[in-house]
Amino acid sequence: MAVPFRRTSKTKKRMRRTHLKKTIPGLTICPNCGAALKPHRVCTKCGYYKNKEAVQVKKEEK
Ligand SMILES: [Zn+2]
Repeated sequence: MAVPFRRTSKTKKRMRRTHLKKTIPGLTICPNCGAALKPHRVCTKCGYYKNKEAVQVKKEEK
């Protein structure tokens, strides 16, 4: 079985890992109230989906 000839140095390891970044999950903005939402989901703040009220939200802020 092939085995690495040399131990990877701290620098080389860190250089390689500079490309490993956290990515921000996709977020969209509610067209009705402007809250950040996950895509393809009813807005949790106002209950709107595709510019129509889809779900009644219990506590509605004015
Ligand atoms: Zn909304």
